[in-house]
Amino acid sequence: MTDVPGYWQNFIDGSFCDGGSGRLAVLDPATGEPFAEQALADAKDVDRAVAAAKALSDSGTWSGLRPVERGRIVRKMGDYILERIDEIAPILTREAGKPLWEARLEIEGAARYFEYYGNQAETVEGRSIPLGQSYFDFTTHEPFGVSAQIIPWNYPMEMTARSLSAALAVGCSVVVKTPELDPLTNRFFADAALACDLPKGALNLLCGLGKDAGAALAAHPDVNQIVFTGSVATGISIASAAARNVVPCILELGGKSAAIVHDDADLDAFLSDVRWGIYFNAGQVCSAMSRVIVQERVHDRLVDGIAAMAEGLEVGNGLSFPNFGPNMGAMISEDQCQRASAMITQAEREGARLATGGRRMNRPGYFLEPTVLAEVTPEMTIAQNEVFGPALSVLKFKDEDEAIRIANSTPYGLVAGVFTTDLDRAMHASKQLRAGQIFVNEWYAGGVETPFGGFGKSGYGREKGREALLNYVQTKNVAIKLR
Ligand code: NAD
Repeated sequence: MTDVPGYWQNFIDGSFCDGGSGRLAVLDPATGEPFAEQALADAKDVDRAVAAAKALSDSGTWSGLRPVERGRIVRKMGDYILERIDEIAPILTREAGKPLWEARLEIEGAARYFEYYGNQAETVEGRSIPLGQSYFDFTTHEPFGVSAQIIPWNYPMEMTARSLSAALAVGCSVVVKTPELDPLTNRFFADAALACDLPKGALNLLCGLGKDAGAALAAHPDVNQIVFTGSVATGISIASAAARNVVPCILELGGKSAAIVHDDADLDAFLSDVRWGIYFNAGQVCSAMSRVIVQERVHDRLVDGIAAMAEGLEVGNGLSFPNFGPNMGAMISEDQCQRASAMITQAEREGARLATGGRRMNRPGYFLEPTVLAEVTPEMTIAQNEVFGPALSVLKFKDEDEAIRIANSTPYGLVAGVFTTDLDRAMHASKQLRAGQIFVNEWYAGGVETPFGGFGKSGYGREKGREALLNYVQTKNVAIKLR
């Protein structure tokens, strides 16, 4: 078992500190046992963090740096995280339940955001707009100021890195509200800030309950911009708080994403897409492949193949999986595990057939079997609502139009996929599918460089790619009358 420090503090204005609401026990999802404590912030801590971020923002010392210098600091923070990967990964596994190799991938992913946005810092350029010979007109992009970032538990490090690195690159200062289920490893960003000479107040990290510290941060009058990833219900309350202060927000609210599989697709290759698509991170991924919509001629063959693949996954304590392989860890919490298994039971009641899995495992911790539900129909609860667990729903179609109709039949629209060797078919689907990102013949194709975000109830705004930088700046136009 890894040795984890017993108590973890918040980080405000360049110093580690306790929280006004005491301490929170952090549980190991693989055992259900507490193994560390986290300082719990209250609204006063949020006030102090926002004040520190605002003071730095008002001073102009961070936003006024030459972008290449800001970019270098941001990049160094990513390097720092990578240098400590051996130390961080087991702690991430202990707090989040994911296999050790997945924890390492997450940390590498987090570092990659700092590399990418560090490199982008000096590319945020304005433009000159011709107004005839009597004027000179140009635009600049100015950082919003204080960016509040409310982080979910499924990828605690990567989600923080995604927003934090872009916000810092353009000169914002940031207050991060870490997830209360797995807040610990975010602390390494504070270490990175200190080690890389990020100015005090540019990064403030605090853990607190959503209804207390989270709500206080979202409603804070000195916050200039908000980024949120999590559930639709919380997204609505955050957007409402942002509206009351007339500040913009980015919402990334999950999905019910579908892969359409045509009868000409490479079905063997597709099994690997399913393995990543729904069993990576035990299915707790906003862009998970939670539905497969398959052409009826290949339906039975595919369901059998997926069920066999799912049955071949070893489920256990993430610490026992150091290397990439057919394995899966625990879900994050008792609540999430119960919620997912209740949804599976409900699906069976509504007529779905359990092709494999579906049961809570008879051992301590929050383990759910890798699950495949066949004969799901579009109106079933499981076809409409996000499970956020290792449960795949398989639906059938006859023709292309029906496939697209089913894929578009949920309120969400985060990602979608089409698997076929027919390019016209793939292009047609990519136009018809209502989702922010379309994968053709590979689920999760793309990377930090490609913009990501939702249509419909999956939210609005874009993270990743150059588009994300524009979340953190506002455009100013300067029009000069010449003599
Ligand atoms: P949540 O939306 O309640 O919590 C996400 C974050 O928001 C946490 O940091 C939480 O403290 C904070 N929060 C909660 N209430 C808040 C409030 N009123 N004001 C400000 N911040 C608040 O999500 P959850 O309870 O952790 O998970 C529930 C469901 O959310 C999951 O089943 C899943 O469907 C969805 N989810 C989606 C993603 C995603 O990546 N899109 C991530 C996590 C959870």
